Amino acid sequence: MRLLIVEDNADLSQAIVQAFASRDIRCDVAGNAGDAEALVSTTDYAAVILDLGLPDEDGLELLDRLRRQRITLPVIVVTARGESETRIRGLDIGADDYVVKPFLFAELHARLNAVLRRQSGYVDPQSRIGNLTLDLRTREVSVDGKLIELSLREIELLELLMRRPDHVVPKRVLEDHLFGAGDTLGSNAVEVYVHRLRRKLEATAGVKVQTVRGIGYMMSAA
Ligand code: CA
Repeated sequence: MRLLIVEDNADLSQAIVQAFASRDIRCDVAGNAGDAEALVSTTDYAAVILDLGLPDEDGLELLDRLRRQRITLPVIVVTARGESETRIRGLDIGADDYVVKPFLFAELHARLNAVLRRQSGYVDPQSRIGNLTLDLRTREVSVDGKLIELSLREIELLELLMRRPDHVVPKRVLEDHLFGAGDTLGSNAVEVYVHRLRRKLEATAGVKVQTVRGIGYMMSAA
């Protein structure tokens, strides 16, 4: 999962990035509304954390513009204490939730999880294809009930593929979610992980990961 943090206070954005990193969630940072808009248009984020006091524009104006462009990704706005009118306006414009500065990271994380759960409707904590099961809460992967060991990125890749069984997941979407903007990416970085995942799964699990040339990858029961 990858988030966009829109925050002009570098100390605060770095603290948020590090806190999410310790929970295995990658973040990109935009220090102003213009950079945020450019990143949102090119990258598939799971959600945006949007500070409203930005140097080039009010964050609410950016949010309004994104919603008018029918960009529906979840947005949590960050407001200053005492700005209850702003919070209400933010929710009217299309924010999914808000936190009030100063906030505890745990609160931001909990609100993010709630927003993501709402967005996807009810989520069965166990995702299954064939005899392969991924527990989304514990991130345990098992085949016929027997745990198998995967690296964190292999599990993330598996989760992205298992969310849309029998559908092609574009390579670019996988790159966006698996690697941060600061990562130097070899052109075959995703292939490397797909290859490892295949090697670990295909011997035991009744699933296959097909390469759809020039587009992406598709997981289905074998
Ligand atoms: Ca600010």
